Amino acid sequence: EKELLKQLKDKEAVSKDGTVVGTWGNIGSPKDVTGVLKNGANGIGLYRTEFLFMAKDRFPSEDEQFEAYKAVVESMAPHPVTIRTMDIGGDKSLPYMELPHEENPFLGWRALRICLDRTEILKTQFRALLRASAFGYVKIMLPMVISIEECRKARILLEECKEELRDEGVKFDENVQLGIMVETPAVAFRAKYFAKEVDFFSIGTNDLTQYTLAVDRGNERISKLYDTYNPGVLAAIKAAIDGAHQGGISISMCGEFAGDDRATALLFGMGLDAFSMSAISVPRVKKNIMNLDKVDAVGLVDRVMEMATSEEVLAEIDKFNKEYL
Ligand code: PEP
Ligand code: MG
Repeated sequence: EKELLKQLKDKEAVSKDGTVVGTWGNIGSPKDVTGVLKNGANGIGLYRTEFLFMAKDRFPSEDEQFEAYKAVVESMAPHPVTIRTMDIGGDKSLPYMELPHEENPFLGWRALRICLDRTEILKTQFRALLRASAFGYVKIMLPMVISIEECRKARILLEECKEELRDEGVKFDENVQLGIMVETPAVAFRAKYFAKEVDFFSIGTNDLTQYTLAVDRGNERISKLYDTYNPGVLAAIKAAIDGAHQGGISISMCGEFAGDDRATALLFGMGLDAFSMSAISVPRVKKNIMNLDKVDAVGLVDRVMEMATSEEVLAEIDKFNKEYL
């Protein structure tokens, strides 16, 4: 394992047929960057900024946010750093922010919904992100999207922030990308249309699984039902990837499924452009990609998408992995 890590560290994940795939890391704070670099990731596909918000007894200021983002962006440059706007609510709360008691917080006032109601929170974060974009390659990502309207509203707020910074003479990347997470079936099955509105996608399988199956991702009692290999979830993932490419944008995955090396061949066959995962999973996923040929993986996808149960899916995948990986 150690040997493998050393061999692969500075290599890009290129499959046997020459397809280049991004192998990125997920982080929760600037100090996680060391692990990402040590494991040879060539980008960050998810920086969960809510921990920055949870660590304080008040909202972090624009400058405090800027410093955190800049530190990550500078140490990763020239590689991309995908920074997700505050994804609070659901299972994550802020001690200093009164969130109303809700019967179903996972279906409630959370993440982008809060940000689009309290636009000052989002604008402060956008300004900090834009300022950080002057120091490397920043991609801004919105969580928990369900509609095109949300994308447009966020885009307008981002443009307002750009205008303000221009007026103030503050530098930022004029071409900074705005993307969204694919975490709801509403986006997955309409991905082609969302692709016209945003610059990139990243599939959040943790929530996409929860919302496709109506199975609480944190409920132990039904954890057996929480299954990303359920053919319904796989159909949502495939629809998202196909829609992204029909719409001409790239799509990565930053949910736990991306780091599941049993799923690499299937996801590669579906055409996923980048895998973003915990740093420790990077070498194994990279190795898998390097052992794969696109035609074989596409064949696997064709067979798997015709299967009726996740048991059949897994049997087919395991057979394939044994032969090719
Ligand atoms: C996801 O939902 O897959 C995801 C990556 O976001 P989080 O786990 O932070 O909800
Ligand atoms: Mg999520």
